[in-house]
Amino acid sequence: MNRRHNKELCDKYPFLKKYDWLGNFIGYDSTWEDSLPEGWKKVMCPQIWEDLKNILVKANFLDRFRFHKLQQKHGLIYFGYTGIGEGANAKRLLGWDNKYSEMSSYSCVDCGEEVDYWDLDWEEFVCEKCAKERSKQHPDSIFIKKSDLVNYQNASYIEKKKYYIMFNQKGE
Ligand SMILES: [Zn+2]
Repeated sequence: MNRRHNKELCDKYPFLKKYDWLGNFIGYDSTWEDSLPEGWKKVMCPQIWEDLKNILVKANFLDRFRFHKLQQKHGLIYFGYTGIGEGANAKRLLGWDNKYSEMSSYSCVDCGEEVDYWDLDWEEFVCEKCAKERSKQHPDSIFIKKSDLVNYQNASYIEKKKYYIMFNQKGE
C-alpha cells in the first residue's frame, strides 16, 4: 500500500495512525490496518473502522483513542487501545471488540471464507482450500478440523494423534 492511500485512510480514520513509543507520529509508511491478515481485511474493512469511528465520535473520543496493539492471538483478533474512558463508552467499545472477535473466529485469515481447520503450527483458523494451499508450501503442516478442536484439546497425547490431518500424505 502506498503513502497516499495510507494518508487518505488515516484522514478518514485517525485512529489508524501509528506512533512510536514516545508518542511521535511515525508517518504514512504503514497504518494499523496493515496488522490485519488479508482474509480479515477482506471481510472486515472498512466496516470495522466505520463502526469504531461512530462509537468514538458519539463519545467525543476520536482524538484521544489510540491503538497500541492489533494482532492475532490464538486465532482471534485482539485489540489493545487507550483513550476511551470508562462506563458507557468503554461498554460500547467492548461490543465492538466482541463483534469483530466473533467474526475473526469464522473467517479464514488467508481469504476470508468460512473456516474449516485449525493450523496447529501457526495457530490460525483457515478454510479447506487455504489449508491445502498451506500444505503445498509446508508439507509437514498439521491441521485439526474445527469441529474436533475441543475434543483435541481435551485428549491425551496418544489420542491427539487421531485428530491430526495432513493433506500431503505419501501415496496421495
Ligand atoms: Zn481461505
